[in-house]
Amino acid sequence: MRKIIVAGNWKMNKTNKEAVSFLSELKGLVGGINEVETVIGAPFTALSDAVKEVEGSNVKIAAQNMNPNESGAYTGEISPLMLKELGVEYVILGHSERREYYGENNEFINAKVKAALNHGLKPILCVGEKLEEREAGKTEDVVANHVQGGLDGITAEEMKNVVIAYEPVWAIGTGKTATPEQAELVHNFIRLLLIDLYGKEIGEGVTIQYGGSMKPDNAKELISQKNIDGGLIGGASLEAKSFSEIVKAAL
Ligand code: PEP
Repeated sequence: MRKIIVAGNWKMNKTNKEAVSFLSELKGLVGGINEVETVIGAPFTALSDAVKEVEGSNVKIAAQNMNPNESGAYTGEISPLMLKELGVEYVILGHSERREYYGENNEFINAKVKAALNHGLKPILCVGEKLEEREAGKTEDVVANHVQGGLDGITAEEMKNVVIAYEPVWAIGTGKTATPEQAELVHNFIRLLLIDLYGKEIGEGVTIQYGGSMKPDNAKELISQKNIDGGLIGGASLEAKSFSEIVKAAL
């Protein structure tokens, strides 16, 4: 049985106070749901209080990015040591917005994945094609390149702590969701690739989330696909009620 993980990605939204108030509400809405791992990716400024707010509950906290180095002259960056000390459990890496706006490439993302694992943080590695790549028939090439590049040098044992999020870029924040069939085709492709790289047992065990305009009304159909093991949710994670409905749809 694979772990089903529903994670919110707040992006650059919510002050510390807003984050704490959201989490207090969310705990009430998803308390007792242990079949689905519920995760919130908060901004760096809210992480410390977010971790304290969810302590003792079934809600976990993720960072949305991380520098691969432990410390040093990297102005404005946050290290894995800093996240670990706060009690953060997951870290979203390689999100398409970071690839697009901050020029992050596979090599840099791979260094982050390694650093996260070395410090006991669980990476959520985002992969996915742009619209023009899909239209040019390159979806599998792009996704394979992101998966293989992001996971270069990661061992089978380490893969037990890695989550993959398939996020077609054309579906992020656009309201255009991949159909369950379209998404499942790519999830199945990623699954086969993971089995090829790490063997059947490990490959079958990796959680592969779908991300891209997932909402309460389409979550169930997507997550009920064979290789879709939860979601990474942007817009619909900003309101506790709608996010909790997605968590419940994954039950
Ligand atoms: C995301 O940014 O990871 C995402 C999936 O966003 P949205 O749900 O808003 O499409």
